Amino acid sequence: MFCENCGTAVRDGSEFCTSCGKKMAVTGVAGQRTGAESVAALGAYKVVSFQASISNTGSGQDVAATLQRTIDQEANSGWVFVQIQELTTFVSGNSGCFGLGATPGTTTSMAVLIFKRT
Ligand SMILES: [Zn+2]
Repeated sequence: MFCENCGTAVRDGSEFCTSCGKKMAVTGVAGQRTGAESVAALGAYKVVSFQASISNTGSGQDVAATLQRTIDQEANSGWVFVQIQELTTFVSGNSGCFGLGATPGTTTSMAVLIFKRT
């Protein structure tokens, strides 16, 4: 995104312009998130997909820290953590052309965090 004051390219999610220091307008990821939340807020529960990404040298500790941050973040907007659950999705295979290049179906799994409105 770009600073609306001086036009400098600023990393997405930055709060202030690195060049002139002007406070950035909330756009992009943060804006979409707000939209998703207002829809979810209609219900008493909210489900957030959780993908931990850690570096090669990362450990379980880092995953736990990321998870903790997500929970804290949601708590700030009034969502209480209920549980974490693993969702397994089947991805259908490709039959290929006359059996050539056929790939079997696979399953992929991801974690979702369930939050409850206080
Ligand atoms: Zn600027």
